[in-house]
Amino acid sequence: MVAMKMQIYGKAADACGGECFDVKNPATGELLEQVPRGTEDDVSLAIEAADLAFEGWASTSPQQRGMIFYRAAGLVRQRKEELAVLLTQEQGKPLAEARSEIEGFAHVLEYYCGLASSLRGDFVPVPGNGYAFTVKKPLGICAAIIPWNMPALIMGWKIAPALISGNTFVLKPASNTPLTNLTLASILNEAGLPAGILNVVTGPGETAGESLVRNPNVRKISFTGESRTGKRVAELAASGMKRVTLELGGSDPMLVCDDANLESAVAGAIRGRFYNCGQACTAVKRLYVFESIAEEFIRKLEAGVKNLKVGNGLDKTTNIGPLNNRHQLEYIKGLVAEIEEKDGGRIITGGKVPEFKGSDKGYFFEPTLVSDVPGDSRLLKEEVFGPLLPIVTVKDMDEAIEEANRSIYGLGASIWTKDLDRVRIGCEQLNAGIIWVNQHLKVAPEVPFGGVKESGFGRENGPDILSEYLDTRTIMLKT
Ligand code: NDP
Repeated sequence: MVAMKMQIYGKAADACGGECFDVKNPATGELLEQVPRGTEDDVSLAIEAADLAFEGWASTSPQQRGMIFYRAAGLVRQRKEELAVLLTQEQGKPLAEARSEIEGFAHVLEYYCGLASSLRGDFVPVPGNGYAFTVKKPLGICAAIIPWNMPALIMGWKIAPALISGNTFVLKPASNTPLTNLTLASILNEAGLPAGILNVVTGPGETAGESLVRNPNVRKISFTGESRTGKRVAELAASGMKRVTLELGGSDPMLVCDDANLESAVAGAIRGRFYNCGQACTAVKRLYVFESIAEEFIRKLEAGVKNLKVGNGLDKTTNIGPLNNRHQLEYIKGLVAEIEEKDGGRIITGGKVPEFKGSDKGYFFEPTLVSDVPGDSRLLKEEVFGPLLPIVTVKDMDEAIEEANRSIYGLGASIWTKDLDRVRIGCEQLNAGIIWVNQHLKVAPEVPFGGVKESGFGRENGPDILSEYLDTRTIMLKT
C-alpha cells in the first residue's frame, strides 16, 4: 500500500524520510493506509511553517478568515458521504454516526464563521486619562493533540476558534485515526486556507505529541484524551508557561427518578451508553435508578439492548461498531472478568465477544448491562470506554446525587424527571461541567463544553472561547 500523497501540511510534508505506520480498520483488521511517523524534527518544521505564515494570517480580517471556513463547510457537506465512510473505516463507528460527526464538523466551521465579526476590543473610560482601549491580539502558534473517538468533531472544536482568532496551528491526530483529519485539513486548503496556517503532524504521542508541547514557540495547547496523558501535557506546558485547555476523562452519571418518562429514559440510556460503542467522554457510564421503578426500567432497557446489532459500521443494519483498538477490547474483557470473578456483579445481558461471520477479525464486544455492582468496583471508578453499563439502584434523589458525585471525574451528568424541584436540586448539586435534563450526550458549538475535577479545565466552544485564543493589549492614550 502506497502512503497517501498529502500527509503533512506546510514544510513538514517533505520531511518524513519514508518512515510510516499503519492505519487499520478496527472492524476487519485490514490495512487502510500508511502515514508518516512524524519525529521531533517534523514537529519543528511544522512549527516553522506556522511561524512563517503567522503574520500574514493575523493581518487578514476575521471576516476573510470566516469566509474560508464557510467555503470549507460547504465542501465538507458536499463530500459528506466519502468522509463518513473514511471515518467509519478508521474509527469503527456506524455510518449514521460518522455522517452526523462530519456534519458536526461543518457546523462548527459555520458557527465560528458567524463569530468572526464579534472579535473586538473595548473602549474604557478611565478617570484622569484621555482614552483607554483594549485590543485583542492572536497568541501566535497554537497546537492540539486529539483522540480517536471523535476525531473530526474534536478537530473542529480545536482548530476553528484558534484560526478564526488569527492564530496558526499544528494538529497531532491520534495515531489510530489520522485519515479523516488529514482529509479535512486538505479541504480547508482547498477552500482557500493558505499553506502553513494549519499543519498536521502524524506520529506517536510520546514523541511527536510531547515535542509539540515542549516547543517554546507554541503558545497554547489544547488536549483531549486520558486524564493521565493530560497531566503529562499540563506538566510539560507549565514549564514553558503555555496556556492549556484539558478535556479529559469522564464517568457521567445518569439519574433516573421514579417520575421519569421511562420510554425516553430507556432510549436515552441506550444512546447515551452505546453510541460510538461507548467511547465518548460524555457517555453514560453509571446509571442510578430509583429502586421503586428499577425492575420495570431494567426490563425495558434489557429488551432495547438485546435489539442492538453489533457489526461492521459500514453495514446499514449495524447499531454498534467495533471498539477502536485492541487495547480497548482487552480492557473491557478484563473488566467483565473482574465483575464476574471479583465484584459479584450480575451480567443482565451481553458480556462477551459476539459471534458472527468475521467477528474474530475486529474488536467487537456485545452491549452489556450489569447490576449489583459494589461501590468500589472499577466499573464505577474508572473512565470505562466501551459498551458496558453498570446499573445501581438508589432510594431517592439525595442518595442518587451522593453516589453520582463520588467519582473523581466531573464532565457531564443527566437527570431524568418531570419534577422541577428535582431538576433544580440536581443542577445545583451535581458536580459536573454539563448537566442535561431528560437527555444526555447532546453537544453543540454554541455552548461551552468541559469538566471539573479530573475531567480537566478550560472550556471549548461558546462565544467566550475566543478569549482563550487571544491576548488582551491595553492601550492608554493621552493627547
Ligand atoms: P491518550 O490520552 O493516550 O491519547 C490521546 C492523544 O494523546 C493521542 O493523540 C495520543 O497519541 C496522544 N498522546 C499519548 N501520549 C502522549 C504524550 N505523552 N504526550 C502527548 N500526547 C500524547 O488516550 P488513549 O488513546 O491511550 O486511550 C486510553 C484511554 O483514554 C481510553 O480508554 C479512554 O478512557 C481515555 N480517552 C478519553 C478520551 C476522552 O475524550 N475523554 C478520548 C480518548 C481516550 P497516539 O495516538 O499517537 O498515542
